[in-house]
Amino acid sequence: MHELSLAESMVRELTTYIEKEKIKKVVSVTVIMGKFSGVQKEPFEFAFPIVTEGTVLEGCELNIEQQPGVINCSDCGEDTELTIPLVKCAKCGSRNVKFTHGKEFLIKSIEIE
Ligand SMILES: [Zn+2]
Repeated sequence: MHELSLAESMVRELTTYIEKEKIKKVVSVTVIMGKFSGVQKEPFEFAFPIVTEGTVLEGCELNIEQQPGVINCSDCGEDTELTIPLVKCAKCGSRNVKFTHGKEFLIKSIEIE
């Protein structure tokens, strides 16, 4: 399960930061998960308590903000929401597009006590 290793590396980075900042207790962690980040919400939610066990993050709440896929069209300049399976502009149909949102997988914030 690739979410397990993702959760593991995220927790490793977080605990390093938490130790450096001398934070005693974390109440919640909020992550931004793009629809096209390659990470699935449910397996990640399942993996999180496993990988946080025995760390300063144990028992903290996990909030996941899912981000839709947004692409910017290089031809008409429009930002449109990406609908699978084809990556193309929803306005003019051009495939000359760039991702602006949806591939993120980031820690947005942590709430501490
Ligand atoms: Zn377009």
